[in-house]
Amino acid sequence: MQIKFLGTGGAFEPAYGNSAALVELQGKNLLLDAGFTVYPKLIQRNLWHQLDYILLTHLHNDHCGSLANILLHCFFYGKGKRPVILYPTETFRQQILSFLNFQLKDATIYTEFKPLTEITGLTFLDTYNRHSTNFQTYSFILEEAEERLVYSGDLGDCAFLFAYLATLPERTTTVYHDISFDPENKGHAFYTDLMAFQNQYTLFGYHCDPTQQPPDNTVPLVFHQPGLCY
Ligand SMILES: [Zn+2]
Ligand SMILES: [Zn+2]
Repeated sequence: MQIKFLGTGGAFEPAYGNSAALVELQGKNLLLDAGFTVYPKLIQRNLWHQLDYILLTHLHNDHCGSLANILLHCFFYGKGKRPVILYPTETFRQQILSFLNFQLKDATIYTEFKPLTEITGLTFLDTYNRHSTNFQTYSFILEEAEERLVYSGDLGDCAFLFAYLATLPERTTTVYHDISFDPENKGHAFYTDLMAFQNQYTLFGYHCDPTQQPPDNTVPLVFHQPGLCY
């Protein structure tokens, strides 16, 4: 199971790219999130033709803003290639579909929707209302062999995710979590809250401007790990 980020910035830090990653799971390539900088990055690095599945944590623009472009590009330049959009719940499938239909008229021409249970080892945690008020968000858990990889999505309440992880069977677990250095920003996990879990998990922070990192932060940032970034 390999993860490589296409961007590690927050919604207003396009210089670092919108947070998104490509993961290889069960021999398939899965795109985690598709914000507005993701399409150009996929083209630049010639990665678009590898896409098998797309999975969205939520429908904020820095996580879904170039989804329609990606689908159109695959279809027109990839001989009718239709990446599969995986969905955690029926309600969320309908939200993605209406969002896409405004842009594509009939999105099902360019993609196929399948429940996330399609992939062995892929599960989710419903994090509704824990990033933005009354807003649907999800975290994803990916397991293969003896490894577990956790992708928080945008989540202010990291304790909720860690409490859930504590209920799972023990496995080597790496958590990729959004991180904020601003105590006023309740939509993302504050770095000191994340630091409290570092003794239990291998943890990396993303969705931030790395230059804003305070000197006492001990959570390593994805941005500083060359092996984790395109
Ligand atoms: Zn975001
Ligand atoms: Zn968000």
